[in-house]
Amino acid sequence: MAKLPTSIPDLVQLYGPTLHTIPSGGWTRNPQEEKLVKTHCCFCGQQCGIQLRVNNNKVVGFEPWEDFPFNKGKLCPKGVKRYMQDEHPDRLKTPLQRVEGSGFEPLGWEPAMERVVGEIRRIQQAYGKDAFALLTGASLTNEKAYLMGKFARVALQTANIDYNGRLCMVSAGAASKKIFGIDRSANPWSDIPKAKVILVAGANIAECAPITTDYLWQARENGAKLIVIDPRMTPIARNADLFIPVRPGGDIGIFNGMMHILIERGWIDRAFIAEHTSGFEAVAQAVEKYTPEYAAKIAGVPAEMIVKAAEMWGPAPSSFLLHARGIEHHTKGVDNCMAAINLVVATGRIGREGCGYAMITGQGNGQGAREQGQKCDQLPGSRDISNPEHRDYIAGVWGVPEESIPQKGLSAVPLVEAIHDGRIKGLLSLCFNPAVSLPDGNFVREALSKLEFFVNIDFFLSETARYADIVLPGSLMEEDEGTTTNVEGRVILHRKAVTPPGEAREDWRIVCDMAARLGKADKFNYASPKEIFEELRVASKGGTSDYYGMSWERIDENNGLFWPCPEPGHPGTPRLYEGGKFGHADGKAHLMPVEWRPSAEMPDVDYPIILTTGRVVSHFLSGTQTRRIGALMEQYPQPRCEMHPRLAEKLGVADGDCVKVESRRGSMVVRAQVVKTIRPDTVFVPYHWPLDRSANNCTIRAIDPISNIPEFKFCAVRVSKTELPADEIAALGLEAGGIR
Ligand code: SF4
Repeated sequence: MAKLPTSIPDLVQLYGPTLHTIPSGGWTRNPQEEKLVKTHCCFCGQQCGIQLRVNNNKVVGFEPWEDFPFNKGKLCPKGVKRYMQDEHPDRLKTPLQRVEGSGFEPLGWEPAMERVVGEIRRIQQAYGKDAFALLTGASLTNEKAYLMGKFARVALQTANIDYNGRLCMVSAGAASKKIFGIDRSANPWSDIPKAKVILVAGANIAECAPITTDYLWQARENGAKLIVIDPRMTPIARNADLFIPVRPGGDIGIFNGMMHILIERGWIDRAFIAEHTSGFEAVAQAVEKYTPEYAAKIAGVPAEMIVKAAEMWGPAPSSFLLHARGIEHHTKGVDNCMAAINLVVATGRIGREGCGYAMITGQGNGQGAREQGQKCDQLPGSRDISNPEHRDYIAGVWGVPEESIPQKGLSAVPLVEAIHDGRIKGLLSLCFNPAVSLPDGNFVREALSKLEFFVNIDFFLSETARYADIVLPGSLMEEDEGTTTNVEGRVILHRKAVTPPGEAREDWRIVCDMAARLGKADKFNYASPKEIFEELRVASKGGTSDYYGMSWERIDENNGLFWPCPEPGHPGTPRLYEGGKFGHADGKAHLMPVEWRPSAEMPDVDYPIILTTGRVVSHFLSGTQTRRIGALMEQYPQPRCEMHPRLAEKLGVADGDCVKVESRRGSMVVRAQVVKTIRPDTVFVPYHWPLDRSANNCTIRAIDPISNIPEFKFCAVRVSKTELPADEIAALGLEAGGIR
């Protein structure tokens, strides 16, 4: 039997020094200094409860938090390894400035901040206020998201702020707003096990929202049937009663085809439709032509599958529909979501126990970060920046003239296009890594290199930060405190476990300091994130996402509170739409007719294969954090191109071969993974890696006209086997087990 590691040298020998699995101080405990801090995972939108084990101001491990109701102590591979990034040697601990030709050198806070503020002033005076833009993150706490929206509109008075939730939740949010009048999952997750049929569309739940798997298993234990729609047979699909391997972009075929059958067979709730909805006749008319055969052509699956799905969904006594990026990352992402939601509303199975709908948030605060005003078109409380009454209210909270608040600005992709063509000259980014996460990577990196001035606040030197003139060391989640809003709409509290290392500072302090230097100290005079929350709850009062009745103490005591929570003492609202009362002024759900249309770039003779992208369980988004956690890198060290054996044979590719994936915009070289779990017309590559292995070198900048989400799930590529010498394989990080 192999000897178990008992010392740090043993561990280094086992894992290697580059894997960074071991905190710099080793694992030695000092029991007097040890404490457990109840907080939440920093990664995905599930926001699982976790207890961080802290020793000598270092996070050295974790314990499950079994009383937290959402995950009851369960964690996924990212959650159990999250603490390992804290002591990583790459952690930024001092401001840096770029030195042309030789990288970065340390700089004091004072000269760094003076330079930042001087450049902001210079650019805005020379080119106008909107020439300086902000790109922010959906992993920020509600307090920071609120602060960034206010900083843009009050301190900089620029219209151009957007956030990386633009790459994640906006199609789902827009569809929910259109149909329900509210942008939030409709039910708490505790409703999932009570449903008798569950439809999961475009959601790789086991890898991207792992704790939700447990809710599905509970439902299965209770006799629920499971339908999964996905171009890949994801782990959850392997346990489905019905798996529909839809062609990417063909989802509307399935949803409209199902609706056609529901109407034909009388499986819709006419009384509910009459009393609680509008628009049904237009939907019925739109789906008339979506016979199973027509729908099947669009979806690229046998017609019988669509009929079977309708037969499972239609007569069910209770049901739950969940979707995620698979149907949302399209130029018709909003339409895809609306076609899915129509199925929920037309059957009247919403707003009741075990009957509901949810969008699966990707980023940590994907839900809350879009409510607090860092979207280019929203003010706090999910208010509309174009609505005069909404503007008046927020101007009152901020103590500024209404007309001084800029109008709607550019969303993320058009904003980067404006940098590329010279309309935007300066940029501040906070926890957004567009060099890896935006589509058409070569274009994005070109744009970043054209900026006259770029300041980046982050805790690691991300691929984007490498383009910055000044890098300011901010804070990890556990180095600050604040609230986030999880996938269910539950507002929860992250507690501070440690202080930022070295000269690093909490992000909110950096931003408030910047605002003060820009002459707005009186508007950013906060002593703590809790004070920011106190203003945020007032700003949200009367808005759709109303937090007014919440306090940090109440959130803490209740293990989270669901919005809307309009008055102190209000219990919060776990389940929306009870009694068929929806969020629109008329109280009704507005059903929306949807027509299928092709994706922006269909396959052709030159680029005959569909590329779709996504995540793997071991990594998170642009990988800035998880690519630095050795144990996660060991699990999934490099991106792989999944392809079906039939396609592999046609291309002359064997499992493990290096392949070049090329689109009209760029290419990547990765190893092939030949699997039967993907359609033969499609390849899949995860997007967590940068540069030569970035899936986003190939993706397209086409966006949904309503949500402005990019079409990450569909572009045309060609794939070819490529023979590389060993040194190039090593340089690309493609060795077997290669890590970079
Ligand atoms: S499911 Fe999400 S929140 Fe929970 S442990 Fe995993 S990454 Fe963290």
